[in-house]
Amino acid sequence: MATLSPQPSTFPRSNEEIAARVKAMEAILVEKELISTDAIDYMSSVYEKEVGPQLGAKIVARAWVDPEFKNRLLADATSACQEMGVGGMQGEEMIALENTDSVNNLVVCTLCSCYPWPVLGLPPNWYKYPAYRAKAVRNPREVMAEFGYFPDPSIEIRVWDSSAELRYWVLPQRPEGTEGFTEEQLTELVTRDSLIGVSVPPAAIEA
Ligand code: FE
Repeated sequence: MATLSPQPSTFPRSNEEIAARVKAMEAILVEKELISTDAIDYMSSVYEKEVGPQLGAKIVARAWVDPEFKNRLLADATSACQEMGVGGMQGEEMIALENTDSVNNLVVCTLCSCYPWPVLGLPPNWYKYPAYRAKAVRNPREVMAEFGYFPDPSIEIRVWDSSAELRYWVLPQRPEGTEGFTEEQLTELVTRDSLIGVSVPPAAIEA
């Protein structure tokens, strides 16, 4: 993962520095009465404890066991997610991209860090780094290799650029050898990275 590390010239060097900047910004926003401290505490708590990739994993597992739900998900991800009580801010317009035997999808925001919050929570730091944003477009296979995934050369890699209006995420393939799995067991196989498309569910790598 060395090549995806932050660039010291453009990024804060330490968590302490990031925390100091965030604190300064929070103080200014509160002082200008643009946001309240309570609202910030509430949002932090929701995205730390409740909203995260476990929600996306639930949706993927449902799509793996229910073909009709999968069709609805691929036709309109936003409303299919709402069926399962998943939706909200930064996920008003979502598109789920289906991985197949011949196509793997990979999601990036080349401009900044647009990400489907309702299904994945807040983006990991590397998703925001210029190194990831550039390399995902120029050489997606190299990015996948850094995550330990080496798709067959015959598989086409499609890269999708998320924006504030439209946020993509990946519907990975159900791993082989999971025929007897319950929906709950399937949920546990789905990783955040497989929903971004830099990797696939671990069982699929082993299969
Ligand atoms: Fe963005």
